Amino acid sequence: MKRANARSTPAIDVDVLIIGGGLVGASLACALAGASLRVGVVDAVPMDKEPASHDDRSLALSLGSKRILDTLGLWSHLIHAASPIREVHVSERGQFGATRFRAQDEGVPALGYVTKARALGEALRAGLAQHRQLTLMSPTRVVGVFAEDGGIRAGLRNAAAAVHTVRAQLLVAADGARSTVRDLLGLAAVEHNYGENAIAAQVTPSVDHRGVAYERFSSRGTVALLPLNEGQCGLIWTLPSAAAEMLLDLDEAAFLEALNQVFGSRLGRLVRVGPRVEYPLRLVSASVHVAARAVVIGNAAHTLHPIAAQGFNLGLRDAAALAEVLVAARRSGQDLGSAAVLRRYLDLRRDDQRSVTLFTDTLARVFSIRSQWVSGLRSLGLLGTDLLPCLKHALARRAMGLAGRQLRLSRGLPP
Ligand SMILES: Cc1cc2nc3c(=O)[nH]c(=O)nc-3n(C[C@H](O)[C@H](O)[C@H](O)COP(=O)(O)OP(=O)(O)OC[C@H]3O[C@@H](n4cnc5c(N)ncnc54)[C@H](O)[C@@H]3O)c2cc1C
Repeated sequence: MKRANARSTPAIDVDVLIIGGGLVGASLACALAGASLRVGVVDAVPMDKEPASHDDRSLALSLGSKRILDTLGLWSHLIHAASPIREVHVSERGQFGATRFRAQDEGVPALGYVTKARALGEALRAGLAQHRQLTLMSPTRVVGVFAEDGGIRAGLRNAAAAVHTVRAQLLVAADGARSTVRDLLGLAAVEHNYGENAIAAQVTPSVDHRGVAYERFSSRGTVALLPLNEGQCGLIWTLPSAAAEMLLDLDEAAFLEALNQVFGSRLGRLVRVGPRVEYPLRLVSASVHVAARAVVIGNAAHTLHPIAAQGFNLGLRDAAALAEVLVAARRSGQDLGSAAVLRRYLDLRRDDQRSVTLFTDTLARVFSIRSQWVSGLRSLGLLGTDLLPCLKHALARRAMGLAGRQLRLSRGLPP
């Protein structure tokens, strides 16, 4: 891995320039650099510091994501910090209906794995450090992009305010929900504020979680408890913003009391809670994902409500698909930024992106309705799903990232 110095290298030439070295951008960089493409990665945050999204939030990685990370050689860096999900239990507080998804029923060792965003970020950094054909530019921000014949140029400003130019065949915007590149490219995005916040924290239950992930809907928000290592659970509690603010103001004992009331006694009692962090929740969906010699992926293309734990999983499949298309294009001597190559990427990703975005948004809206009548209907829905093995299997395959055409990296093949 090289570090660019703007003074000594005024113009850098790469095959692919990735703006945003977060969870998705860094995954793409590892995939492309491993296939011998010349890759540049730009991030606003110094690489020896963690970007905001590499925090202690718990991330549920689908089995499909685990397979991609494994093929990229990253899983070995993460395995010590990942805990298997053997079962998912979904229920509605105060109602009889519940649905259980079991790894055993799906014939897999685990439905997915839970880790912390920080641990995944560290694994990705270890992966990036192994690639010598990768040029890392940070702390650096993009200030302009210009498509021209045969390439695209990005104007970058580093911490010393020096501006330099990088030329590439293709520019990838992986700079998150508030994507500057998406704006610079003039790509519109639809936004919806859910009026909800998520509170994330680590909690300690009095009873072993035995690899079960819980999602519990209630009139006081949705509580997800994800199995972490050493008997800990990752909490994601989503609820209306004002109610979230009030919970954050509570001391540890009062917060735990409120949490125990909503979650119930499936894990005995929740006896400790670590630092609580809150996230405002909104949907951001780019209307168009490509421009001349540019493509947006990950949260820059679709920022989702965390209710179905799909945001990173979806973004990682964007990265895996783009790597597959670009490596095939290079092999056949095609221009990596050509319209034909970008069309192939869009064709590969359209269905998955649309269905996961729609599914997640619908869940978020349906489960935020706080009415006894709707709660009863939801409960019936959960019960019905539990009694219909075909529907349950189809939902489980989708949540595991195993529905539809499997990308090469998901099948253990290089991109
Ligand atoms: C509470 C919560 C729980 C979640 N749980 C799950 C889960 O269980 N499973 C799951 O799959 N997903 C989950 N997600 C979603 C997941 O965290 C995101 O989808 C993922 O972080 C997106 O990665 P990204 O690389 O696209 O964007 P980010 O992680 O936001 O990275 C963007 C990068 O771009 C850089 N950047 C920004 N602007 C610029 C600029 N102008 N110039 C240069 N660099 C720039 C930033 O420094 C950063 O490094 C959750 C999200 C939340 C909020």
